[in-house]
Amino acid sequence: MIPFNVPCYIGKEDVAIRDAIAKQKLSGNGSYGEKCIRWLEEKMGVNKAMLTPSCTAALEMAALLTDVGEGDEVIMPSYTFVSTANAFALRGAKIVFVDVEPETMNVDPKRIEAAITKKTKVIVVVHYAGVSCEMELVMSLAEKYKLWVVEDAAQGLMSFYRGKALGTIGHLGTISFHETKNYVCGEGGALYINDASLAERAEIIQEKGTDRSQFIRGEVDKYTWRDIGSSYLLSELNAAYLSVQFEHAEEINENRIRTWNLYAEGLAPLAEEGKIELPAIPEDSKHNAHLFFIKTADAIVREQLSNYLKDLDIVTATHYVPLHSSIAGKQFGYFHGEDAYTTIESERLLRLPLYYGISKGDVEYVIQSIQQFYAQ
Ligand SMILES: *Cc1c(COP(=O)(O)O)cnc(C)c1O
Repeated sequence: MIPFNVPCYIGKEDVAIRDAIAKQKLSGNGSYGEKCIRWLEEKMGVNKAMLTPSCTAALEMAALLTDVGEGDEVIMPSYTFVSTANAFALRGAKIVFVDVEPETMNVDPKRIEAAITKKTKVIVVVHYAGVSCEMELVMSLAEKYKLWVVEDAAQGLMSFYRGKALGTIGHLGTISFHETKNYVCGEGGALYINDASLAERAEIIQEKGTDRSQFIRGEVDKYTWRDIGSSYLLSELNAAYLSVQFEHAEEINENRIRTWNLYAEGLAPLAEEGKIELPAIPEDSKHNAHLFFIKTADAIVREQLSNYLKDLDIVTATHYVPLHSSIAGKQFGYFHGEDAYTTIESERLLRLPLYYGISKGDVEYVIQSIQQFYAQ
């Protein structure tokens, strides 16, 4: 069988975890946590990185840091994971969903501007498939209307926009290390604090609303409750696993890019015949091969193809059901403007198996099987 995903494992993560146990420091921000943070700050050029239990948790921190509350509006694409919206719905904000661009499935900046009102407080962009949004346009809108920008770069570690790592361009950025992402530790995430004015409060929110971080650095002589917050630290056991993935980041990235390119080249003839559509990578974008999708003619053909591949033991996956069409999406938000692409494009998108270490033979078998489907 060819699975859709296999969580990345280099083979030395267990040694790091055993070492963390031997060091007898298992809670957050230990030596492995610090090692991961240093890597993010040095290699990705992050001003201040924090490790969190998930990208969901990092998004919740972003909602707290931007002081979003009842009466505020947050603009984001409807084509995203539930956590992008849920973090802000938790604070009582109204979610304003806007349309995507079909080539990348990223938010369309023109739709953002049309949705801005006096109540708008935050723009959340999602770098789908690790391919960058048009950040220059988004940042100029934010400046013009005095809005916060949060980059949901859950899928975007090792991806760049004009040389800048995804997540480092907006005021805040979030990353995921969930087992389905490129660099993993089971469950885990990171929050990038790009706007230095948010750094002190971010430390307090991460430490259950206390100034424990300052206490550990010896800046205060006892720690107390200062603000609202929660338990937003990544366990040292997870950080130990993650540190090995970071050490091998180039190798993991190259391996995934090779697979992505095999799909792109192998499926190009079918795209030229007009049978399928392939993802487009904008010139400003250096991507990390997080996922490879094809688009079929419609939802019916997509189901026929995925069933055909399933019978050949090849597992594929659809992706997001647009949030504005969900029960909670209707309760906490609404779609602004025309849904020209979100629904129709999401219904014909199919993701192919792509993970670190997938064999060239398996990728070729997937390509041949798709060709066979269209030849019958
Ligand atoms: C995976 C993902 C998340 C959630 O990440 P977790 O680490 O599982 O909380 C959020 N947003 C997007 C776009 C994602 O792909």
